[in-house]
Amino acid sequence: MHRRYSAAELTRFRPGWNARLLAGHAPGLEPVAEKYKARLLADIEAGRLVVEESGACLCGGGDFLPLAATDRFGLPFGSLLCTRCGLVLTSPRLAEASLPRYYNEIYHPLVFGTERIAEYVNFTGYGQGRLVWERLSPHLGRREALRVLEIGAGTGSVLHEMREAALADGCRLEPWGFEYSRDCLDIAASRFGITLLEGGCAEALALGRSFDCVVLSHVLEHVSDLPAFLADVRALMRDGTLLYVEVPGLMVLHKSPWYEYDFLKYAIHAHTFAFTRQTLVGVLRRFGLADIASDELAYGIFAKGERTPDEDFAAVDLVAYLAFVERELGYLQGKETLAVKTRADDEPTDGGA
Ligand SMILES: [Zn+2]
Repeated sequence: MHRRYSAAELTRFRPGWNARLLAGHAPGLEPVAEKYKARLLADIEAGRLVVEESGACLCGGGDFLPLAATDRFGLPFGSLLCTRCGLVLTSPRLAEASLPRYYNEIYHPLVFGTERIAEYVNFTGYGQGRLVWERLSPHLGRREALRVLEIGAGTGSVLHEMREAALADGCRLEPWGFEYSRDCLDIAASRFGITLLEGGCAEALALGRSFDCVVLSHVLEHVSDLPAFLADVRALMRDGTLLYVEVPGLMVLHKSPWYEYDFLKYAIHAHTFAFTRQTLVGVLRRFGLADIASDELAYGIFAKGERTPDEDFAAVDLVAYLAFVERELGYLQGKETLAVKTRADDEPTDGGA
């Protein structure tokens, strides 16, 4: 059993390690990003987009260690670590009902810095669909045909690549996908010949179809009402359906040059949760999704299972990891040599010893 540490205890452990993260920042942004950052704030101010406090953690815990005060754009969306289960929550966050408008109007130009969305056909990098197929296919056995559903399908590039990779393995893949961004729907149709449908999980459920695989590639971390979302995802699955979930893993920050190894560049208001392998698997188990495989990157393959209670997880491990990355940021970015590390720094002290 891990000992659980309160936020107060975790704060005393290597005090001030995240002072830079808590100070917030005002990064210089490209003009398009600056325009959409202002538009996001104006939409919130005018009530067109609703933000809410994250409230209690999914595990029921209410003791949080503040990790950072702002996100990568300098927007006032903070990150909180649940000291009970180790899940990282964004608070405040965009309310679930505001997500369709946000993803249709704000997200892509703000994050990718261009209003010409077609320039960013593949948001998660070319090869993502092939990678998903490589990870999933050993668990599927030999199949001649598969019906695959992707929620948050973007421009359809993942489904397109999966279909190509499956075909090379002798499997005919029937792609189904839902997406909120109408620009993305147009690109999927014109570039890949894939007809994505507008919507999310609720619209997929309304189809009344069953699927062999459900893919959530960089989607789960964007959901605000995770219990309702995962209940819908589970309802989309029958016995034998495999669920592929991939999120940007927090415990690989030290090998994430695209975030410059920096938690402040990792943090983004669009991510309502940040996961490690343990918290990803722990959250899905809580909602009746049993893990078959998982990785710290973080991804997991799941099947319908029983609801299982929380996995014991030491939040102190994540804090120690983040404190290490923060201390060695200069080294990771190639600007400094590795700081001298003392073992005594790595363990929180119990009591006044
Ligand atoms: Zn928790």
